[in-house]
Amino acid sequence: MTNQDDQFKKVVSHAKEYGYVFQSSEIYDGLSAVYDYAQNGAELKKNIRDYWWKAVVQMHDNIVGIDSSIFMHPTTWKASGHVDAFNDPLIDNKDSKKRYRADVLIEDYCAKIEGKIDKEVDKAAKRFGDAFNKEEFISTNPRVVGYYDKIKTILSRMAKSLESEDLADVKALIEELEIADPLTGSRNWTEVKQFNLMFGTKLGASAESAMDLYLRPETAQGIFVNFLNVQKTGRMKIPFGIAQTGKAFRNEIVARQFIFRMREFEQMEMQFFIKPGTQKEWFEHWKETRMKWHLSLGMGDENYRFHDHEKLAHYADAATDIEFKFPFGFKELEGIHSRTDFDLKQHEEFSGKKLQYFDHETNESYTPYVLETSIGLDRMFLAVFSNALVEEELDNNTTRTVLKLPAVLAPVKAAILPLVKKDGLPEIARQIMDDLKWDFNVAYDEKDAVGRRYRRQDANGTPFCITVDHDTLEDQTVTIRHRDTMEQTRVKIEDLRDLIKKEVDMKSWLKKI
Ligand code: ATP
Repeated sequence: MTNQDDQFKKVVSHAKEYGYVFQSSEIYDGLSAVYDYAQNGAELKKNIRDYWWKAVVQMHDNIVGIDSSIFMHPTTWKASGHVDAFNDPLIDNKDSKKRYRADVLIEDYCAKIEGKIDKEVDKAAKRFGDAFNKEEFISTNPRVVGYYDKIKTILSRMAKSLESEDLADVKALIEELEIADPLTGSRNWTEVKQFNLMFGTKLGASAESAMDLYLRPETAQGIFVNFLNVQKTGRMKIPFGIAQTGKAFRNEIVARQFIFRMREFEQMEMQFFIKPGTQKEWFEHWKETRMKWHLSLGMGDENYRFHDHEKLAHYADAATDIEFKFPFGFKELEGIHSRTDFDLKQHEEFSGKKLQYFDHETNESYTPYVLETSIGLDRMFLAVFSNALVEEELDNNTTRTVLKLPAVLAPVKAAILPLVKKDGLPEIARQIMDDLKWDFNVAYDEKDAVGRRYRRQDANGTPFCITVDHDTLEDQTVTIRHRDTMEQTRVKIEDLRDLIKKEVDMKSWLKKI
């Protein structure tokens, strides 16, 4: 087992052990790629959603939020192109009977070459020491340049064959690269087929009159069909945005990466409506703004990168992903797409209704262009959670497991611990808790020795522990312990609220954007 697999396994088991994520319907052996958020997970997820909503909606006076339905008129999905083109290329291994996404097999092959590049860079960095210039090395070292060329050739060939629906060539590429089933090593592959990812269902009681529906595979279309309603009732002027968060459903072919790829998941999307011709500037603007949002959480600048798309979706004239370094490598976390006027035009055509914007200043009507930012809430959860989980060596040769969640996102902000279960200490601890709970999510814990309780809260991601001891009875002070530094200071009970607020208040975090 590699280090990466090991770290990922720890993430999954920690998420379960500490009440973050459970497998759905676990007592019936679960449902593949469907998960439930438990008591801590639901809080963390809500905090991430709030952090996004505040940054995107509340902080922009030209962006409003909606909450549209999961069910939509089925023609929506004809118009959007999902009925005809929301497919993934699927390939089966004849020996193992395992199913894969053909494009992902090829991308993973390229990721392995990237791993080789990283090794060359590390080696060279050691050899050259302080004099090492990474940029120069990458662009001149023949071996590294060769690796990059290889990746580029492979990915552009794949993009071309997928674009032209030449699935035989996708298979040929897999064979030429001698890509084997990662689980068994077998290279006995079937043909590549297209597979539609939408879930179908039925609306209506009787079989004859029932209407075929889809569970929405993205939240974006709920925004497009409401575009004119919102623009008119909100008296919105271009440029403006409509945002929403909500469930989406995809019958994913491969679902083996915990909450990274789920069949039921939640998206946080924003469609920004702009004047045609300004899409390049707005694309750059939203790339930068969204990256700043990510970096504001302090999860390590080196863990993010942009990945511009080679293969553009049928609706886009530019697209990039913000990738994050998950335990299994750099993968897409958020997509930023310049969607042109494709969606609004399609809905105009299929509905027969005009979906144009009338510009009072220039007295002209036009179909706006759209810039989209689309991030998976669950994937963001995984990014935050996996990045936070660390095993730390301590001075006394022991280790501690600590979940270093950004304090603004932590489910529980402070735990209040009476040193002993007597002498009136629990009563004071309860009083402190009753006072703080108006402002923060707080917990009370009196079981076990205080050291063990600290460890428990560390593993739970709680930024502060507040200990009530016998001195508290005399002088109304308590010990406050910081999760990350383990530093302990003595403070007055009356100062606790401000102290905690300083660290967890969304305002101060959002100001970093
Ligand atoms: P991928 O290439 O990983 O399948 P995608 O490019 O199809 O993703 P989009 O359609 O751009 O994804 O969706 C926007 C965001 O929604 C993604 O960046 C991701 O964070 C999230 N997302 C998409 N599919 C899933 C899924 N099955 N489970 C969890 N999150 C998802």
